[in-house]
Amino acid sequence: MEDLIIIGAGPAGLTAGLYAARARLKTVLLERFSPGGQILTTDWVENYPGFPEGISGFELVDRMKRQTEKFGLEIRSQEVVELQLSPEKKTLVTDKGPLEFKSLILAIGATPQKLGIEGEDLLTGKGVSYCATCDGPFYRDQEVAVIGGGDTAVEEALFLTRFARKVTIIHRRDELRATKLLRERAFAEEKVDFVWDAIPVRIAGGTGVEGIDLKNVKTGEESHLEVQGVFVFIGYRPNNELLKGQLKTDEMGFVVTNNDMETSIAGVFAAGDIRSKVLRQVSTAVGEGAIAAFAAEKYIELLMHGKSI
Ligand code: NAP
Repeated sequence: MEDLIIIGAGPAGLTAGLYAARARLKTVLLERFSPGGQILTTDWVENYPGFPEGISGFELVDRMKRQTEKFGLEIRSQEVVELQLSPEKKTLVTDKGPLEFKSLILAIGATPQKLGIEGEDLLTGKGVSYCATCDGPFYRDQEVAVIGGGDTAVEEALFLTRFARKVTIIHRRDELRATKLLRERAFAEEKVDFVWDAIPVRIAGGTGVEGIDLKNVKTGEESHLEVQGVFVFIGYRPNNELLKGQLKTDEMGFVVTNNDMETSIAGVFAAGDIRSKVLRQVSTAVGEGAIAAFAAEKYIELLMHGKSI
């Protein structure tokens, strides 16, 4: 039986793994793809302390992974296909079989939200993208639209100016949500244009994106913007499919925890983007991963001494 199973190898899961390995807990970190999580889709991270020049998302995660390996953390490529959680009994089945454990950390993250409009699914991978780092280089000297007004949208729009001739940010209000520094950069960048108070209603195209139909939310007026790429950054939804309502969540489905990262079921912890919280950052994810591992260690100690928890 494992002391601890961690699901998800983004910054939260890797940090939990690092702390658990150093605490000599018998730990397995499960990841269905390769370690990294969403940070792999971030070209450059410049607000993670300790890297004054910034660091690529890929390298940051690679360093975290190597650090966990140094302390002997076991990372397995296995997908969790079933999770049964109750105060009395907890079971977990992966695509390679069942695993027994004393305690569990969910670091299962979040996924980019879709617009849910005509043409989006059809043209995903053919001009509609949720990752500028992955797809930006395909749009050299072309025109692209970015949907959203938060930090991600503005940061990724600025990244896209390295390739695209013109980047139009389409936002449903007349004020960006993004932090002041990013707003200032976007307003100063001559390749970035804005369409305010507008939502996309249809993405046009066949084998590739040809344009996007917009609707002004104040006047109802419709317009068309010719672009070859549409990048959607309108927030995230929790990767909570496995949980099937077994844990307390907020109204958006993010897992609610206490200050020790413990969920509504004792011995089950959550860390990183899957948690209900206000700030989703690498720096917050790693802090939560550390707290979750520490709390799991205390939980296991009490369990081993037969104390009621
Ligand atoms: P976010 O802050 O939730 O912003 C989502 C944006 O999309 C908002 O501007 C929102 O408009 C818009 N939007 C939402 N649903 C929409 C819809 N159906 N149609 C059109 N527009 C829609 O998401 P995020 O930018 O991905 O950021 C997520 C978290 O990560 C935040 O905590 C953010 O600070 C953090 N983050 C930080 C950095 C950084 O520090 N460098 C970088 C990236 C992300 P409204 O403004 O009108 O709600």
